[in-house]
Amino acid sequence: MAVEEVLSDLKKKIEEKLPSGTTISSVEFEGPQLVVYTEEPKKFADNGNIVRNLAKALRTRIVVRPDPKVLMPPEESIDKILQTVPDESGVSNYHFDLDVGEVIIEAEKPGLVIGKHGETLREITKKIGWTPKVVRTPPIKSRTVQNIREFMRTNHKERKDILKSVGRKIHRGCTSKDEWVRVTSLGGAKEVGRSCFIISTPESRIMIDCGVNVGSDDNMTPYLYVPEAYPINQIDAVVLTHAHLDHQGLVPLLYKYGFEGPIYCTPPTRDLMALLQLDYIDVAAKEGKRPPYSSADVREGLKHTIVLDYEEVTDIAPDIKLTFHNAGHILGSAVSHFHIGDGLHNVVVTGDFKYEKTRLFDAAVNKFPRVESVIMESTYGNSNATQPSLQEAEKNLQNIVNSTLKNDGIVLIPAFAVGRSQEVMIVLEDAIRKGIIPNVPVYLDGMIWEATAIHATYPEYLNNDLRKLIFQKGQNPFLSECFKPVDSNELRQKIIEEPHPCVILSTSGMMNAGPVIEYFKAFAENENNTLVFVGYQADGTLGRRIQKGWKEIPLSTREGTHVVKMNMNVEVVDGFSGHSDRRQLMSYIQKMKPRPERVYTEHGDERSCIDLASSIHKKNKMETKALTNLETVRLV
Ligand SMILES: [Zn+2]
Ligand SMILES: [Zn+2]
Repeated sequence: MAVEEVLSDLKKKIEEKLPSGTTISSVEFEGPQLVVYTEEPKKFADNGNIVRNLAKALRTRIVVRPDPKVLMPPEESIDKILQTVPDESGVSNYHFDLDVGEVIIEAEKPGLVIGKHGETLREITKKIGWTPKVVRTPPIKSRTVQNIREFMRTNHKERKDILKSVGRKIHRGCTSKDEWVRVTSLGGAKEVGRSCFIISTPESRIMIDCGVNVGSDDNMTPYLYVPEAYPINQIDAVVLTHAHLDHQGLVPLLYKYGFEGPIYCTPPTRDLMALLQLDYIDVAAKEGKRPPYSSADVREGLKHTIVLDYEEVTDIAPDIKLTFHNAGHILGSAVSHFHIGDGLHNVVVTGDFKYEKTRLFDAAVNKFPRVESVIMESTYGNSNATQPSLQEAEKNLQNIVNSTLKNDGIVLIPAFAVGRSQEVMIVLEDAIRKGIIPNVPVYLDGMIWEATAIHATYPEYLNNDLRKLIFQKGQNPFLSECFKPVDSNELRQKIIEEPHPCVILSTSGMMNAGPVIEYFKAFAENENNTLVFVGYQADGTLGRRIQKGWKEIPLSTREGTHVVKMNMNVEVVDGFSGHSDRRQLMSYIQKMKPRPERVYTEHGDERSCIDLASSIHKKNKMETKALTNLETVRLV
């Protein structure tokens, strides 16, 4: 059946099921949703059961939206909202999203805007036509989040067309009688960097991640020219597990090559992705390299991004449903569950994950309705790759900070903007508040503060304890006075010229670029200072050279090469990793429910991937395999 017929059929069915006197104006597929437009949103708002019953009867996700004709102009709507909600609710901002006929209301006390059982919200809908969505006023303003919202608003017409064409493709119907499922590795197998996989069936093809290997000039991009990925527009969708560059850094390149399909990811992944892609272009330009894509390609990707929260089951192709679950790795990171065919096969792609509760996140999810195949990361898959516990790591860091500050020294911590920085920030804040370490300023330089602002925008993606601390006890550790964002060159210069006991967290994490180099040049020669590594240092980076014990470090400056004498202490604190260590990788599979039949390993060096695959096989009697790049395996 053609999509037009399907839609008119659906419209008829819906009209039959509506209570008498309720009318709809049109029915449309927009992205994965079936959208029902009505000129009478009030009637739908009054009766919450209508939508629920419709969704049940039609077995699909339905949203009811006001026909754009009945939307009150934003200015008037704001007045009406303010008249309706109690003054104490502390409404601070609005975003009118024409895409979906939604108004996002930011408030200090969202509960008061929602009202008892959503009463106040329904009242608002009745008055203004827009569907209100309430969020807590973010405690730190993020430029990235603001810009993306603004960008989506100004491009809403184009975006609507994109969503319509995506929706029609998803609902094009199945045509083949054959049943098979295959997975092809385009990158990230027996290596870390440029992760990229394609799941294909007779009906559809889904790309999972499209990363860049920033550490390598020769093997930087995935094998995007293989038949499975060609022509690029035959790919139904790109699914992103999380925002690190080795998983999404080349997504804009797909749009440069003419891809027009959607990207599915969580809301924080979308925002962090934009931040990191733009920074990637920036860093490449500064290093005198030609970035593989431009900011226009980044924007093109954003226009095509459809965000999904954890646990939302969503059709992304005629025969594939996707559900994201918490992965515990970084903000918004997702274990992706694919349900293929009508119960034919279920694949779990872990992406990077941490199977242990951390200061920021809950442990990765490993309970699913069904699972037969698992594709899992193996960064620490080697049998000797156990890591100290988080408590040990915290103790270790506290001791280093204390002994350095005792000598009036400075603690310099190179850190990735997203993930480790926020974890270390919370550890330091906690120790300062409890008097375990002295109350010194903790300077945050590079993109760390902006990434932290994005964390503060999405508290629902943090773990329960942290959310409770923020919402019930009113203690947001990110807002602690000990944190001083370095937001100007003047402040950075001042810290360097007037050294005083402090902790500095700065990008980049492997010391290949960024403000950390400025601090390093200034503080390396003083033996009272300490450089602390909290993350992995790849071969060829300055961080790795220092770890190897280099005593004289040549650094190129505008005036030529300058040799820095390395007198400061160097410490490595393991255990803060966002990856599962060997024990956690093993127990993630052992405790997985239901028990999977097959496990494929990837995202680790060759030895780690093979070692983990063979250990899981021996321990659990499951079929396992370490994937190889360019290889296709048949799952069904
Ligand atoms: Zn990652
Ligand atoms: Zn990774």
